[in-house]
Amino acid sequence: MLLLMSVVSKILRGLAYLWAAPTTALGLLLLLPALLTGGGVQVVCGVVEIHGGIVAWLLRKATPLEGGALALTLGHVVLGLNRDALDISRAHERIHVRQCERWGPFFIPAYFGGCLLAHMRGGRAYRDNPFEREAYENS
Ligand SMILES: [Zn+2]
Repeated sequence: MLLLMSVVSKILRGLAYLWAAPTTALGLLLLLPALLTGGGVQVVCGVVEIHGGIVAWLLRKATPLEGGALALTLGHVVLGLNRDALDISRAHERIHVRQCERWGPFFIPAYFGGCLLAHMRGGRAYRDNPFEREAYENS
């Protein structure tokens, strides 16, 4: 019975990676540019973490958050300013990884829909987004 549960668990994990793969692919597009601009990569518990180089520049300059973002999740890829930022934000970003596994290719449009919904309700587009609220409340 334990063997069956283990096999089923591995199949479900594989399906989660497959379902999130379109979003993960977007994150992986930044791997080579990050490495070519002085960044680095590590794999932590099945998640590719890319930091530094152009990724740091994008997080500082191309996110709508004041002062930029420490980290950002795209499927099973987490982009971070640096290794310290990845360490600090890991629990929060892993909630987003789980959300990507639930929403699959619909994660990005659903996330922006959450921003719009929060804004239309008079809240803050980022912090009142249901995806961010879940991540902040559980990390
Ligand atoms: Zn977040």
